[in-house]
Amino acid sequence: MKNNLICVLIGAPGAGKGTQAKNVANYYNCKLISTGDILRENVENRTVLGLEAKKYIDNGNLAPAQIVVSMIKNVIKSSVENKAGADKSFLFDGFPRDLEQNKLFEQILDELNLSIKGVIYINIEDDIVYERLTNRRICPKCNRVYHLKFNPPKFDNLCDDCKVKLITREDDKIDVIKNRLEVYKQLTYPLIEYYRKKNKVVEINGNKNADDVLKDIISGINCAR
Ligand code: ADP
Ligand code: ADP
Ligand code: ZN
Repeated sequence: MKNNLICVLIGAPGAGKGTQAKNVANYYNCKLISTGDILRENVENRTVLGLEAKKYIDNGNLAPAQIVVSMIKNVIKSSVENKAGADKSFLFDGFPRDLEQNKLFEQILDELNLSIKGVIYINIEDDIVYERLTNRRICPKCNRVYHLKFNPPKFDNLCDDCKVKLITREDDKIDVIKNRLEVYKQLTYPLIEYYRKKNKVVEINGNKNADDVLKDIISGINCAR
């Protein structure tokens, strides 16, 4: 039974993964799993996992694969158990991030008899990364993402949904952004190449307005084998 939709979103920091992930998951009615959001929630709640991960996140490095993969495994398994016989569809945002994580990820999918339909690679240039991230603001309550110029909140610095004051992510500082971009190129590019060889990559130009990017993603997934 391999007819469930499993997709992965990959792209540089600021490529628009989080922005697109919510809409894509809604469109296909699949469960969205964002490792960045889960890790930040753990940091916020000061869990053991969060305290360990914070050291890496603050510097823009990847949290250890063991932590992230066991976290993912729990989410997938509990979700699959809750949905016996039902459609098991997942959209992963920000995971897997490198070949090491991917190996463990493939093992989990195999155990559950699931396979990846498409790897959506949102491609943007480096200068746009800085433009996007220095102007990014998020809602600490619902994780909704805003941009001061392209997607501002209706009322000054407040989440449209929660009316909570928006914050700047700790890791959206120039030095940390620079390191995240380097880490991305060093560790995530090889993963994109891995899936390219398997003909699984749907490459999307991320430098369009968000609605057009969404349309491209959906038509790309629909064409993926
Ligand atoms: P990622 O999850 O890949 O780091 P986000 O979805 O958080 O990226 O987007 C980064 C920033 O860029 C946010 O401020 C978001 O509002 C903005 N953004 C996302 N997509 C677009 C787009 N297509 N055009 C302009 N700004 C965008
Ligand atoms: P962005 O795509 O904008 O860099 P994310 O929210 O995906 O943002 O990730 C923020 C930080 O969380 C990363 O820099 C890293 O420290 C940590 N993180 C997120 N996903 C992973 C992952 N799969 N493996 C390891 N660390 C991760
Ligand atoms: Zn909110």
